[in-house]
Order: sequence, then C-alpha cells, then structure tokens
Amino acid sequence: MSSPLYLPPDRLDDLIRQLQERGYRVIGPRVRDAVIDYGELERAADLPWGWQDQQRPGRYRLQSAEAKRAFAWAAPAQGLKPWFFAASEPLWRTQRTAGGFQVEPCLPEAKPLAIFGARACDLAAVARQDRILEHDPHYQARRQDALFIAVHCTHPAESCFCAATDTGPRARRFDLGLTELAAGFAVEAGSSRGRQLLDALDLGVASAEQIEAAQNAVADAARQQTRSLPTGDLAATLLARFEHPRWDQVAQRCLSCGNCTQACPTCFCHAREETGSIDAQSAMQVRHWDSCFGEMHGHLAGFQVRPETKQRYRQWLTHKLGTWWTQFGESGCVGCGRCLTWCPAGIDLTIEAAAILGDTA
Ligand code: SF4
Ligand code: SF4
Repeated sequence: MSSPLYLPPDRLDDLIRQLQERGYRVIGPRVRDAVIDYGELERAADLPWGWQDQQRPGRYRLQSAEAKRAFAWAAPAQGLKPWFFAASEPLWRTQRTAGGFQVEPCLPEAKPLAIFGARACDLAAVARQDRILEHDPHYQARRQDALFIAVHCTHPAESCFCAATDTGPRARRFDLGLTELAAGFAVEAGSSRGRQLLDALDLGVASAEQIEAAQNAVADAARQQTRSLPTGDLAATLLARFEHPRWDQVAQRCLSCGNCTQACPTCFCHAREETGSIDAQSAMQVRHWDSCFGEMHGHLAGFQVRPETKQRYRQWLTHKLGTWWTQFGESGCVGCGRCLTWCPAGIDLTIEAAAILGDTA
C-alpha cells in the first residue's frame, strides 16, 4: 500500500475522466427516487453532495446536511450485486432449425465497470459472491475487469454493524481507497491499476494532519456502531436451537415479503424459467433472483418443504449466520444493515440473532 496522496475536490472530475478514457463505464452513488443508490456517473457533480441518510429498522430517509460532502452517508439502498449478478437476465436462446435446434448463450455486453465510491460492506459482499459465482460466465463477463474505487465509510447509519462483522468501515480490497476530509480526499493505491491512475493524476502527498484526520474519521465510524452479532460456532448453535420459541415470535411479524433477501448484497438464490414462443419455433431461459421467503423456493420434488413463515425465516437466518460458515468458512453477513432498513416490519437480524443465540454461542 502506497502512502496517501491528497485529492482536492476540484480534481474528482479528472479522476472520473481518467476512468472514462480508459474505457470504463463509471458507476457511483447518486440520489435517485429519494434514496442514494449506485448508478451511472458522468461527472463529480452527480455525486450526492450535501445529502445524509437516516437508516434504522423499517426506515430510510434522506436529509440535507450543512456540510457539502459527497460521502456523508452509509450504505446505498442497493449493494453492488445487480451490477454483476443481474436481477433478471436471459441465459440462452434456442431456435428450431431444419435439423433440430440451435442453442445460443446470451452473454452480457462486457464493457468493464469502474465502481466509484464502493463501500467496505459492499466490497466484502462482492468477495463473497466471487466465490459463489466463480464459474458463472454471466457474472464473470461483468466482473472480471471491474475496477473498485472505495470510499472508506465515515458516516455509519444506525442500522450498520460492519465493525462487528469485521468487514468495515475501512475497505480491505480496492484499486483506489479514498477517505473524505473536510475538503477533498486522502487517497491511496491498492493495486497496480490504482497506482497508474494516481500517476496520471500527479497528486501531491497528503499532510500528516490530513492522514491523521482520515484515520480518525474511519476509527470514529467504527466506534459509532452499536449493533453486534453473537460470536462462536453459530452454525452448531443455531441448528441446536431449531425449535427455539423466538422463531414463532418473529414469524408473527414477518410478512414473508423477501425484501431482506433482495436487498442483501450476499444473497445469491436464483430461479430459472423457460419461455417458448407461441409458434413453438424458439425458446429462452431466463434467470432471476429468488428468495427463500418465496413459495416456489421451497417447492421441491412435488411438495412444499417450508410452508410456514417460521420455517422460511429460520432457513434465511440459519444459512446467513450459521451454515454459510460450514459452506464457505465465513459469515454470509457483511453488516450492511440493509435487511433491517428495508424490512417493512422493522425486523432486526441482530436482535433476532441475540434472542435465539443468547450469549452461550
Ligand atoms: S444479512 Fe442483512 S446486514 Fe447482513 S449482509 Fe445481508 S442485508 Fe446486510
Ligand atoms: S424479515 Fe422483513 S423483509 Fe424479510 S421477509 Fe420478513 S417482513 Fe420481509
């Protein structure tokens, strides 16, 4: 890791232009539909200058702030998942021919993405999806040349707990890592592509005061977080508490709407559907995100294996916090807090986990 340089606010456009000239499609945070979300970024003015978010269980609000910072907010409404693992996409098409059928894969257009302003939790989620979708050609077509410009988090929301999951607020893996200061950014390279970008920008070094302010801001962001998760062998403990009465209690509030799974940046369940043309000459297979709260997700071998909300919530939480460890050697939760924020019933996974696991995990 190189020592930090100083990027003045009026040089942000130069950085974005460098990315565009290198052929990247630049994606970054923007205000859209009253939330901050990742979208196409043309210029620095598109960033959410002067906006802050309020996030807590069942609530998301934007409010204007006095300080005109671009990154004074926590997690965008949706993570990076849809940019690499599309919510819905065709996998292949087939056409009837004289001799049978011709099948064609539908690989996505592969203009490389530069993600500007990626949060630590979202980068940790991408690392998890990289393992799951390692051999998926559609995911890899979008993911393989992607470049990540992280902005370390200095404004966690009430719903955040990345410090507890050890995935933030400082990003671990990036090409460039920025920390927003009162004016401008401390910036460091995390890869050779990041170093090339910094060389092209020809920036001066950050002062000792700027480096200290950047470190303090990220450390404060960790200290501000109040939520946590139980530790220990969560897979074994959750499975041992399969009949805990809390599952019935949470099921009385849970609507089985699946919002938590759609907002979660690590959830990867999906379903495939074939549709045929009315003249029976062609067909297409489409993949779309699925949810363990959906009726068809538990429809196996002709019958429903999880007919009740209790069983679906239990499946979700037990996999996310427990058996994900068994499968992948790490947690399925990166502490982004989105499942809390976007749950219409305000169900808080950290509270449910604490109630079921107690302090004996
Ligand atoms: S389980 Fe909730 S807090 Fe954890 S990564 Fe998914 S959405 Fe974020
Ligand atoms: S926990 Fe909340 S978001 Fe998830 S399915 Fe239940 S009601 Fe919907």
